[in-house]
Amino acid sequence: MFSRLFKFTSRDMAIDLGTANTVVYLRDSGIVLNEASVVAIETVNGVKRVKAVGDGAKLMMGKTPDSIETVRPLRDGVIADLDVAEQMIKYFIQKAHGGASRLPRWPEIVVCVPSRSTSVERRAIRDAASNAGARQVWLIEEPMAAAIGAGLPVTEPIGGMIVDMGGGTTEVAVLSLRGLAYSNSVRVGGDKMDDAIASSIRRNHNLLIGEATAERIKKEFGIARLPADGIGLTVPIRGRDLVNGIPREIAITQAQIADALSEPVAQIVEAVRIALENTAPELAADIVDNGIVLTGGGALLRDIDKVLADETGLPVTVADDPLMCVALGAGRALEDPLYRGVLTTA
Ligand code: ADP
Ligand code: MG
Repeated sequence: MFSRLFKFTSRDMAIDLGTANTVVYLRDSGIVLNEASVVAIETVNGVKRVKAVGDGAKLMMGKTPDSIETVRPLRDGVIADLDVAEQMIKYFIQKAHGGASRLPRWPEIVVCVPSRSTSVERRAIRDAASNAGARQVWLIEEPMAAAIGAGLPVTEPIGGMIVDMGGGTTEVAVLSLRGLAYSNSVRVGGDKMDDAIASSIRRNHNLLIGEATAERIKKEFGIARLPADGIGLTVPIRGRDLVNGIPREIAITQAQIADALSEPVAQIVEAVRIALENTAPELAADIVDNGIVLTGGGALLRDIDKVLADETGLPVTVADDPLMCVALGAGRALEDPLYRGVLTTA
């Protein structure tokens, strides 16, 4: 009974504010929210108002009338539209609290920030969480949260490498002793893969497909290298014919998808190579033993682990539940005093 009461009153949370998805971890409850980082904005008589946030807004993408636009405020890993980002953060915090418009107790909130975000961006994120009702806002660097969530020994003097492949960015980091020994972020991730699929289909088949369709094809059939038989499955694709404007269905092979994805995949490989080149020898030796751990939605792309293993010669593993690692790690940092040292206020 007491534990139930405790659950009800404890409202501290950790938020993974991703470029594609926002995941909220509530202290003592675990993950309570996982929705698209999308806001739909409607303009009525020149006045803008939020029409939908999260998954509801994502469903509208590519299907909105002129009066509604869908925005991904964190698309490239930086806050493009502060106002919209703030409304989104507030909405998710309130929703994670079960829709209460006022928080029952001023909570502590841990927010994940990209490792290369500027102090201005960090302040903006902190302010948004404060305005949403946080008593104390902590920041944690995303690769650190991902590493804790993936179970890496980040508090020990053992080097580990995390490659977190999100929607807008891929972050590569080497961690040891509660700190980032190296970190880099490149603007290549799931979005670039979706774009690559859409433009390949446009170029080779004169067929226009939307972002949502491209993403669905990637998730269902995407593969990071040629399938074993050189062809793979046949994939039906619907879109609009560029020549006569009429809806049409074509079929492509998984090999063609692999070909389309080769450029973004090569850019991710390159980012990992640069990280390895810049890693101190003692830490590099640890990485040879322990390998590279993949997190983020991009880790679910078929064979991406095998491509990275082939290209680096190192062992590569995909973390359990890669889409949740950052939120789980940030939640753990909130709950477990062992990790308190990785939380900062600026
Ligand atoms: P972020 O942290 O930037 O919000 P996520 O870690 O949530 O990103 O990952 C979202 C990205 O992962 C999206 O681009 C999505 O399309 C991609 N993704 C999700 N599942 C898969 C899958 N099975 N195969 C390939 N990509 C995937
Ligand atoms: Mg992420």
